[in-house]
Amino acid sequence: MSNINYVDICCGLAWGDEAKGKIVSSLASTGNYDYVCRWAGGNNAGHTIYIDNEKYHTHLIPSGIFFNIPSIIGPDCVIHEKSFFKELEYLSENNFDTRVIKISPKAHIVTDEHIKQDIQHIHKIQGTTARGIAPCYRDKYARKGIQAYKVESFKSFLWDEKLSGNILCEGAQGFWLDINHGNYPYVTSSTTLPYGACSLGFPHQYIRHIYGAAKIYDTRSGTDSLFPEKLLEDEELLSVALKGKEYGVTTGRPRKVNWLNLDKLIKAINITGTTYIIISKTDVLQELNLFRLFYNNKLCSYHSIDDMKLYINNIIKKKCKLIQFITYSDSVNIDNILN
Ligand code: IMP
Ligand code: MG
Repeated sequence: MSNINYVDICCGLAWGDEAKGKIVSSLASTGNYDYVCRWAGGNNAGHTIYIDNEKYHTHLIPSGIFFNIPSIIGPDCVIHEKSFFKELEYLSENNFDTRVIKISPKAHIVTDEHIKQDIQHIHKIQGTTARGIAPCYRDKYARKGIQAYKVESFKSFLWDEKLSGNILCEGAQGFWLDINHGNYPYVTSSTTLPYGACSLGFPHQYIRHIYGAAKIYDTRSGTDSLFPEKLLEDEELLSVALKGKEYGVTTGRPRKVNWLNLDKLIKAINITGTTYIIISKTDVLQELNLFRLFYNNKLCSYHSIDDMKLYINNIIKKKCKLIQFITYSDSVNIDNILN
């Protein structure tokens, strides 16, 4: 019999960069979890985490590392050896105990050749993060990839594939970058939806809460036909980008910004089964005194952040049956995330 108590999952409801790192670290810091796990993707992700006012970045390694909690890189993740050890070095230098990091023997290896192919053939057309993600998953599904257990340097990190107690799963990217639900081919190569977390090896009946991370405006860091270049010429949206410091953690590229698409957010909430939604960066709109969103394909404007929140809350409560809590946060703080 399984000794799992429950599984909580945090996933992105947009195009990544929805402050999942902040939510996951706030949850992990409670000491309630026995494992923190990544279920998909590689170092294409970029998580920013603040601990005692210090800012840290991870790309592949789950945020359990910051709280000395066993941190699992799951079987559907992909790992580039050199980048992994570089991240490890950075974490060690910052006095985090990297012995808690475990890698599924079945995770796939991103080779230098994968990265070369991404840069040469995919990066320019699709605006990928150039981390070799698509070629690595291509080889995985063609059943000619290399799994982590075959690589000598990962021997001491291999996970025994057991989970117990309380599990926290940390999503990467977001709903609209999912291989099935996103605007293909402007997607990543794995599943960003909570069901993907079951690839870690637990039945879905153990899933308790699904924390959905969203932002009060939309951003897109790669190429996407839904985010045309002309968005970069809109003065209001540019002011949001500047105020919100919207550039990629992984690539440093400026992100395209648009007003929140509430129709898309509702769909993402409903398909992920989000029970708690955390909508971040309200302070950005507040400081600019700009309160707009798209709903039913119409641009709607509000007089204050409170009016806008009230509107969003009413629509979400009406359209999303599984939602139990709606929380807002500014660029740094999370209010009431756990109560
Ligand atoms: P890839 O995952 O590097 O192949 O990139 C595919 C698409 O997903 C590109 O549009 C990337 O910009 C986007 N993407 C991948 N990872 C992230 C992320 O962590 N945050 C935001 N966008 C991402
Ligand atoms: Mg990110």
